[in-house]
Amino acid sequence: MTCTHILGFPRIGARRELKFALEKHWRGEIDASALEATGADLRARHWQAQRAAGLDFVTVGDFAYYDHVANHIQLLGCEPARFGFEAGAAELSRYFTMARGVAAQAGQAHGAHGAHRVHGAEGTRALEMTKWFDTNYHYLVPEFDAATQFHLNSTRLFDEVAQALALGHPVKAVLLGPLSFLWLGKEKQAGRDRFTRLEALLPVYGQVLARLKAQGVAWVQMDEPVLGLDLPDVWRHAFERAYWQLARSAPRLMLATYFSPLAENLRMACQLPVAGLHVDAVRAPEELPGVVDWLPAHKVLSVGIVDGRNIWRNDLDAALERLRTVRDKHQGELWIAPSCSLLHVPSSLDAEPQLDAEIKSWLACASEKLDELRVLRAALDTGAASVQAELRAARAALAARRASPRVNRADVALRVARTARGDDQRRSPFARRQAVQRARHALPALPTTTIGSFPQTADIRAARAAFKRGDLDIGSYRAKMRAAIALAVRKQEELGIDVLVHGEAERNDMVEYFGEQLDGFAFTANGWVQSYGSRCVKPPVIYGDVARPAPMTLEWTSYAQSLTQRPMKGMLTGPNTLLQWSFVRDDQPRSVTAEQIAWAMRDEVLDLEAAGIGIIQIDEPALREGLPLRRSGWKTYLAGAARAFRISASGVGDQTQIHTHMCYCEFNDILPEIAALDADVITIETSRSDMELLRGFGDFKYPNEIGPGVYDIHSPRVPGTDEMLRLMRKAAAAIPVRNLWINPDCGLKTRTWPETEAALAHMVAAARILRAET
Ligand code: GLN
Ligand code: ZN
Repeated sequence: MTCTHILGFPRIGARRELKFALEKHWRGEIDASALEATGADLRARHWQAQRAAGLDFVTVGDFAYYDHVANHIQLLGCEPARFGFEAGAAELSRYFTMARGVAAQAGQAHGAHGAHRVHGAEGTRALEMTKWFDTNYHYLVPEFDAATQFHLNSTRLFDEVAQALALGHPVKAVLLGPLSFLWLGKEKQAGRDRFTRLEALLPVYGQVLARLKAQGVAWVQMDEPVLGLDLPDVWRHAFERAYWQLARSAPRLMLATYFSPLAENLRMACQLPVAGLHVDAVRAPEELPGVVDWLPAHKVLSVGIVDGRNIWRNDLDAALERLRTVRDKHQGELWIAPSCSLLHVPSSLDAEPQLDAEIKSWLACASEKLDELRVLRAALDTGAASVQAELRAARAALAARRASPRVNRADVALRVARTARGDDQRRSPFARRQAVQRARHALPALPTTTIGSFPQTADIRAARAAFKRGDLDIGSYRAKMRAAIALAVRKQEELGIDVLVHGEAERNDMVEYFGEQLDGFAFTANGWVQSYGSRCVKPPVIYGDVARPAPMTLEWTSYAQSLTQRPMKGMLTGPNTLLQWSFVRDDQPRSVTAEQIAWAMRDEVLDLEAAGIGIIQIDEPALREGLPLRRSGWKTYLAGAARAFRISASGVGDQTQIHTHMCYCEFNDILPEIAALDADVITIETSRSDMELLRGFGDFKYPNEIGPGVYDIHSPRVPGTDEMLRLMRKAAAAIPVRNLWINPDCGLKTRTWPETEAALAHMVAAARILRAET
């Protein structure tokens, strides 16, 4: 008999119940016990959904009030000493303090009401947050320092197990494995490698496992996603030792890997002393035969056959064929599951009554994926006849999707297929373009600009929302947006900025704005996915060939240009970012979708150029996020990403200056590819690294112009002119001054006007001082 399970379920709730309860708690409107009641209720409902779909276990331990890695920090007793928690401080309040920090001044707990020591004028920084592998989920980074010790320090997991058992559910608990936990953490003790902490960590995992066993938990899923990374040998070699040690005290362990091919770790993963292995057969289907070959017959093989990272309905016939092959060859037990935790997809399609019915019939979110597991299992165990209707419906939906003229458009396919040599190249080399552009724009040395957005005031947001609801007519809406644009233009002129922007008042989000106007994109009403803590995103769904039926930004940008003599920079989102922040088609390579978007954006660039806009910025903040987890895949990805960007940018003449912008980005290991974008100007975030990032550009002799951000827009703090001068002097030591621009780190939409004006006035003053010096 086949067993079905999941690696984890979305925790935020179908109506984002957890988000709203968290935010109420943080505002002091509900107490911890009310929040805990919401959590308990969500868990109970999610387990019930798992049982209703006939899963053999409910998964316990996937729930978290902020982040599952943070749960482990408490479970393993390694809360950093720098938070200064007093003995007796409540667990949940310590948790939120680590997650959210303590605001500056007089010990105001940002998050929770807790008995904290006074945190001083500086406040206390939250734990660092970073992306969970190649997803858009952010985890809190464990910190290890000289004071770090591990000890079992939370009963939360065991309490949740008890809750599930009391509800009568068979339980599989889930833990982040010790090697992944350490790998994802950060060592703060000078000269120490976090790997050396393994010996101290393992006994605590041993205690956790023993306690779960004592509770009657039969299976523990140990997530070790780092097995899909290029691990140093010491880390690889530690697996066997670690798991031998853990196996002693443990219930049966299901080692779970996902997101990436196991490659050189495949044999090792098969041979570890655990009772089962889960593999991601969506991301690495080619490895399945190897796993079947290597996995000993007494072990359970869990095949992740339903895509946990995307929202497409499963091709059940293909999945069954694959599963049958595995079952015929693997002597041991077979489990089936989604490829990874369902954390990365929305809860359910139930909340989408408005979604286009045809597109909806092609999709499957978490609840629907549970049902796919039910159907797959039934077909495997009792024959396809038992679920004929379900199989037929899935087949019909897939056939309709494949045949739909909304998905496959001959005009779009033809255009991409006809991409000729040179379509992704500017007409002349950079040096020539630079000369032509300088003559045209006559900008001063060290020109000043901003990254695009200006403060999104309550007024602007209210107008946009009212327009969307239908409460504000198009004429009034336009007038409001024009007023916001006019204000931004006037303020920039008063400040003396050289290259202006219109301020993006009409945009709620840099992807949504374009997605809503492009063919091939669909939007859900409630397709929320947790990004971090209570924050969720609602990624668009790219379901079909992408095309641009009409100009998207032309009207606003032209209006803005009509108000000023200075150059107005057009502002677009790049193909790689539009792709990366959406759910993407699984029926063609990502690179093909990227090129389709690139051609659509190229049309917009050309329309702007024709309207006299001489400077156009194509934002690509998410370019690096698309990097495969394994380095072996980097070259292909980066070449494709650079090509898509260049297709969008290369239709214009030499006299049109193309900017790009990237933030939250480590650049040093991809500098050749950044240079290969061949943007005339790149603006980047550098202030938080004190311009250190720029040194790499200098050493690499980055050929084109650069605007290193001179101040951090994430903070309300207004930096002084001196501070910006110091940063720019540092920049000038790395990059020839003739190629430097002066700008903030990123867009200003989250700032207020007074902060923005003060900071930009300092920035312009710094530019003037520097110009006088050179
Ligand atoms: N142009 C966008 C803005 O200024 C860029 C945002 C981003 O890089 N994330 O808001
Ligand atoms: Zn940015």
